[in-house]
Amino acid sequence: MRAAVLHGPGDVRYEERPEPTIIEPTDAILRLSVTCICGSDLWPYRGFNPVAEPMPMGHEYCGIVEEVGRAVRSIKRGQFVIGSFGASDNTCLHCQAGYQTSCAQRQWVTGAQAPVLRVPMADGTLVPTAEVPSTDLVPSLLAVSDVLGTGWFAADAASVKPGATVVVVGDGAVGLLAVLAARHMGAERIIAMSRHAPRQKLAREFGASDIVTERGEAGIERITELTNGVRADCVLECVGTSESMMQAIRSTRPGGSVSYVGVPHGVALDGAELFFTHVRLHGGPAPVRRYLPELIQLVLKGHINPGRVFDLELPLEQVADGYRAMDERRAIKTLLRTS
Ligand SMILES: [Zn+2]
Repeated sequence: MRAAVLHGPGDVRYEERPEPTIIEPTDAILRLSVTCICGSDLWPYRGFNPVAEPMPMGHEYCGIVEEVGRAVRSIKRGQFVIGSFGASDNTCLHCQAGYQTSCAQRQWVTGAQAPVLRVPMADGTLVPTAEVPSTDLVPSLLAVSDVLGTGWFAADAASVKPGATVVVVGDGAVGLLAVLAARHMGAERIIAMSRHAPRQKLAREFGASDIVTERGEAGIERITELTNGVRADCVLECVGTSESMMQAIRSTRPGGSVSYVGVPHGVALDGAELFFTHVRLHGGPAPVRRYLPELIQLVLKGHINPGRVFDLELPLEQVADGYRAMDERRAIKTLLRTS
């Protein structure tokens, strides 16, 4: 098969790779009709993470089960399934507590920017739909696999409740879907921080009531002003830089909550400042598996349409163009068709 492999900064290639096969008896092999590029794929693409050897890319996936190992019980050939980037047994104590991305047996899934994917611990990781969904729903189901699940965790981890005032820092696909999640959880006011017109438009469509274009100190000032000096109940940090994290913490009211779901790069917190802010912090790699059953139903019933974040669609062979478009912020999120 041919798939996306990152060789170094800015160098992603569509090249021949061995087709995955069952290795462990608990594995499943999926056939993927669509796949996509994640904002977090840009960290190694931009050279922020070293690429020691050619790296098969992609960790967001849904598709048809082609084969299962002999120990797989609940997942069957021919089913349409959705999984998450963190494979989990879904039975250990951390999984039972809803933190499947801290599963005692966790394995990171990679190589999903390909027509065929191996998924470990299939019974724990994958959630099947009752029927094979119509093709128009597949992009939204693909979004459930990571970008929506992560935005959902951002809202949940910041304790968004009916009536809350919410700030979302970051207008990438995760931030935009965090707006959608906050709206679904009943937030009354949702302030999206964005300076890009197409993203502002989508944020409003997903439920943002206000847009703030300022950043850093000016951004914090604007949030303080908009909330009559109180600041926000819940701030969802969806970037992962030091600036965005500080902006989040300083935009939160005493007793409020900050969630952080962007992979941190260079974030260092000052204990004394944190002490006097009185804010709660909760975040990490989103335990998307916890939310899969609920989110899949919301998509199938047409209550949410997270696939709207895909604003560029390319054949997988043009994967390099897809990375470039996201790197240059010409695209919010790229959908890749494998055939
Ligand atoms: Zn587990």
